[in-house]
Amino acid sequence: MDHPISKVDVVVVGAGPVGLACGLELQRKGLSVLILEKGALVNSLVGYPTNMEFFSTPDLLEIGNYPLVSSYYKPHREEVIDYYRRVAQAEGLSIELGALVVGLSGNSGAFEVALPSRKVSCNYVVVATGFFDQPNRLGVPGESLSKVSHYFKEPFAFARQHVAVIGAKNSAAKAALQCHRYGAHVTMIVRGPEIGPTVKYWIRPDLINRIAEGSIDAHFEAQVTSIAEKTISFSTPGGQKTIQNDVVLALIGYHPDYSLLTALGIETQNDSVQTPVYNEDTFETNRKGVFLAGTVCGGRHTSRWFIENGRFHAQVIASSIAKNFRK
Ligand SMILES: Cc1cc2nc3c(=O)[nH]c(=O)nc-3n(C[C@H](O)[C@H](O)[C@H](O)COP(=O)(O)OP(=O)(O)OC[C@H]3O[C@@H](n4cnc5c(N)ncnc54)[C@H](O)[C@@H]3O)c2cc1C
Repeated sequence: MDHPISKVDVVVVGAGPVGLACGLELQRKGLSVLILEKGALVNSLVGYPTNMEFFSTPDLLEIGNYPLVSSYYKPHREEVIDYYRRVAQAEGLSIELGALVVGLSGNSGAFEVALPSRKVSCNYVVVATGFFDQPNRLGVPGESLSKVSHYFKEPFAFARQHVAVIGAKNSAAKAALQCHRYGAHVTMIVRGPEIGPTVKYWIRPDLINRIAEGSIDAHFEAQVTSIAEKTISFSTPGGQKTIQNDVVLALIGYHPDYSLLTALGIETQNDSVQTPVYNEDTFETNRKGVFLAGTVCGGRHTSRWFIENGRFHAQVIASSIAKNFRK
């Protein structure tokens, strides 16, 4: 077993696309970097639906000027996961997997990053922890039943079953279409008056037409009130309804891990978005020497930053740290 690294110039928390981009840009500035990742390499992407296509074209997902070569106009999940693995390898990034960051002590120039069983000393910290591990909850009775999931991988287990899809944004729309096409009886329960207007232009009309022809059932301005072993209940403008149900896909979004941000000493704004406090020019947070990168910067506004635009945080942060670097 490799001896774990205990002192570096910069610790990056999270080996998602943006964490890798940060590691790479910092290393190119001559700084020693350790990326601490609690799960797998690009853990969020590993958790995405099995056969998903990205919305972005390949060039918009690239980091470090490495070309992402895809056989498709919209690259597939497995190509993108493998691309980031190869970039990390080509760049010789130091990444410790299974390393859950739980706290931070010290000050800029002399931090100690806490893992459950040891500490890593560093001068600066970059937090690129995304949001995909914290699903938004319905907050109704029955949500903890095993038939309820806040993630969707693939539709095959749901053929001939009654599937309720909660939500009406991209993930919910794609899940509803796939489950329908692989033989499930799909009912969408949507809080708003329509399928989300920001759903991609090649998905939205497909779903609206399936609803119009009656092959997918949909209830709008509807809210789930409870879930039981064989049913789901929800309110609608026409009154309370209870329908047969085997599977619930509650795809109503995600949010950053605020308990982690608090443990790292990063404050959040006191509004509905709960945006972490950081300088928009440098990405340095209220805690000097601690920077934020990628989707975590958006707080509960999870569609503000994605790979396409979040990857550019890396150069800004690397320049800022390199300029002020002191051992
Ligand atoms: C279905 C789907 C399709 C998408 N398609 C696109 C697209 O086409 N184009 C696009 O630009 N974006 C797309 N996105 C969004 C994009 O995937 C995210 O914006 C991107 O993953 C953000 O990268 P990140 O590095 O900021 O965060 P993440 O990729 O979420 O990485 C964060 C990492 O931090 C780790 N971590 C968290 N907490 C800790 C801790 N305490 N200690 C250690 N490690 C920790 C996590 O395990 C994770 O690996 C899509 C998202 C989804 C859900």
